Amino acid sequence: MSERIIDGKAFAAQLREAVGARVPAFVAATGRRPGLAVVLVGADPASEVYVRSKGKATIAAGMESFEHKLDSDIGQDSLIALIRQLNADGGVDGILVQLPLPKGYDEAAAVAAIDPAKDVDGLTAENVARLANNEDSLVPCTPWGCMLLLRDRIGDLSGLDAVVIGRSQLVGRPMAQLLVNANCTVTIAHSRTRNLEEIVRRADIVVAAVGRAEMVKGNWLKEGAVVIDVGINRLDPEPGQERGRLVGDVAFAEAGHVKAITPVPGGVGPMTIAVLLRNTLVAAHRRAGLSDPEGL
Ligand code: NDP
Repeated sequence: MSERIIDGKAFAAQLREAVGARVPAFVAATGRRPGLAVVLVGADPASEVYVRSKGKATIAAGMESFEHKLDSDIGQDSLIALIRQLNADGGVDGILVQLPLPKGYDEAAAVAAIDPAKDVDGLTAENVARLANNEDSLVPCTPWGCMLLLRDRIGDLSGLDAVVIGRSQLVGRPMAQLLVNANCTVTIAHSRTRNLEEIVRRADIVVAAVGRAEMVKGNWLKEGAVVIDVGINRLDPEPGQERGRLVGDVAFAEAGHVKAITPVPGGVGPMTIAVLLRNTLVAAHRRAGLSDPEGL
């Protein structure tokens, strides 16, 4: 792989290994394995794939995986009851409710029911506030993964000009907050932003988290920029193909002049699950009154 391309797959594999290597010490100290519970409501095929790979990765890291698959008509009250039961379960360190929930569910209420100490997706109000205050918190997995890749490539991010395109709770907002906490000067762009092209042109760091195929053109990117492409978009199939290609939010083929860029697939995507394991291990340590595992 060229120097310019950030190999998220390899980085994520190393992180998963590093997490797995720290599990035995936790087991020795506590007499139990760290546990991650994933709750899936309904049978969305994409979500089922994610949940299955999360379960596999959790077990491969030596942790306990608890999968709760609920029928889509189970109802909000039963979902909340399950989350409360998982909050009270001493063997569960992390709770992840797979979003989006089917129509009719109140996602905000489901997230609010999660014990912040087990909120490995970093979405509860307490964790959001702690991140905003630059205090220790559980941070959403995808932006934390992006920060690891940026730090690996750039080192100290202080004073750099960063633009985050997208302002979702799960990616854009926490990403921008992490960059501010790392002393970047941050612009958050979204669907109402004017002159996006101009804003991107002056950025040292570009994080694209929109969900629009190749919307960031190569000639928007400054030479020497580091580009993190979070978007996952499937193009229409070419004639004779069953499925279209996966591409990011950045026109990758036009970005030969940047300092570094994540590919899609194989960039940010693999980092998300690796950080989920890391967050579960961190949550397990904090719940057990142990100091955070080192080097993660
Ligand atoms: P959301 O749909 O929640 O947010 C998209 C954001 O993009 C919104 O803030 C929206 O602005 C903004 N936006 C939409 N159109 C434009 C535009 N023309 N110009 C600038 N901004 C625009 O998506 P997510 O944050 O959940 O995900 C973003 C992408 O990242 C998706 O492709 C998703 O599949 C991918 N993803 C990848 C992950 C991974 O592991 N690699 C994990 C999570 C997501 P507004 O707020 O104004 O509507």
